[in-house]
Amino acid sequence: MGKSFMPTYKTDEELKALQLEGLKWTVNHVWNGSDFYRERLQAAGVKPEDITSLDDIRRLPFVTAYDLRDQYPFPLRTVPFEKLVRIHASSGTTGKRKVMSYTAKDIADWRHMFARVYELAGLNELDRVQIAVGYGLWTAGVGFQAGVEEFGAMAIPIGPGNLDLQAEFLVDMETTVLCCTASMALLMAEQVEQRGIRDKVKIRKVILGSERHSEAMDQRIGELLGIDPKDIYDIPGMTELYGPGTGLDCRQHQGIHYWADYFILEILNPETLEPVAEGETGEMVVTTLRKEGAPLLRYRTRDLTRIIPGTCECGCVLPRHDKLLGRSDDMFIFRAVNIYPGQIEHVINNVPGVSSEYNIILDRRDGKDFMTILVEREPEADVAKDKEVGKQIEKRVKAEIMCSGDVEIVDYGSLPRSERKSKRVYDNRGQ
Ligand code: ZN
Repeated sequence: MGKSFMPTYKTDEELKALQLEGLKWTVNHVWNGSDFYRERLQAAGVKPEDITSLDDIRRLPFVTAYDLRDQYPFPLRTVPFEKLVRIHASSGTTGKRKVMSYTAKDIADWRHMFARVYELAGLNELDRVQIAVGYGLWTAGVGFQAGVEEFGAMAIPIGPGNLDLQAEFLVDMETTVLCCTASMALLMAEQVEQRGIRDKVKIRKVILGSERHSEAMDQRIGELLGIDPKDIYDIPGMTELYGPGTGLDCRQHQGIHYWADYFILEILNPETLEPVAEGETGEMVVTTLRKEGAPLLRYRTRDLTRIIPGTCECGCVLPRHDKLLGRSDDMFIFRAVNIYPGQIEHVINNVPGVSSEYNIILDRRDGKDFMTILVEREPEADVAKDKEVGKQIEKRVKAEIMCSGDVEIVDYGSLPRSERKSKRVYDNRGQ
């Protein structure tokens, strides 16, 4: 094996010292480089020299997605333009896109972080990595590719879609690692099955990004590709924080190791903005420790998760957070209950006989809200049991989420699949 990309610290104390150093550097950097940040810090009554311990992070003001949109096209820019070498942007479903700018060092740091992903996933220099995610303004494609090159494996930068070419390359290039969204992986696994090329495919690992997916889905992808679902990894990532590649779940699949030597993760109660108790769910708030171009000071991600206490069995020193429970953006209110699609998904995953694909449909009739949950039957499951399975899901939804909905079991493959993110919630209630 070549060089290691794992962190250099060994103990929690060493990590904390590293984080404090990075926090001090960042506050200093934004104070000197960004009018926006300096004004915010002044308004909060904090100067760089006030940061003397990690707890002082709580004195810092928050940054939100609104701030990013407000400052379009170069939000949070903290260095002069001559230092910037690239921008990336996330899709903006409403309003302006979030654009982030990078210095050469930011790009190098990101590449290093991404190489660490491949190291943690157990790749080696002989691996051939088919990168079936979007290229361009997205942080995805180029991030996956730069990491492969830094790590020393071979990148196959094919991009998303084009299933014929994907299938051809899986065989001809002898691809060993596939990187894509969960929906795309399922689509490709089904293609491998349909085309009868499973014996010719050499995939040994799959890295899934940018979309929540269930264990049932991993199971199905693993089954169709002929690999152990343990070899299917989850990669988190958001444009604001470099892009994907800032963490990975290890082979234990007990949460996502995140790169705590590059950023601090706080889990806060989204209402009070106070820290939750260790292990409790709250909003993920991120502060970068080395980012130059557009650093983040307590950026509110709107993602809900929790820190997993204790050390991982894999022995890795990097701390872990749980899978994302959902985003407050995805949240819908049904009969006065706040519901995240992830909660429904969790219920479905624990009921045998159904696949991981589901849709939630919300309607309003005579002033009253109704929820219908469509769930796909597993390919080999018995149609005669649909009613019983549906009732079981309804019962669990009621018990676990305190709301009632009607469950309809539909044929396997009948719900829309997409190569990007699958839409799960269809809200027809109007305003
Ligand atoms: Zn681990």
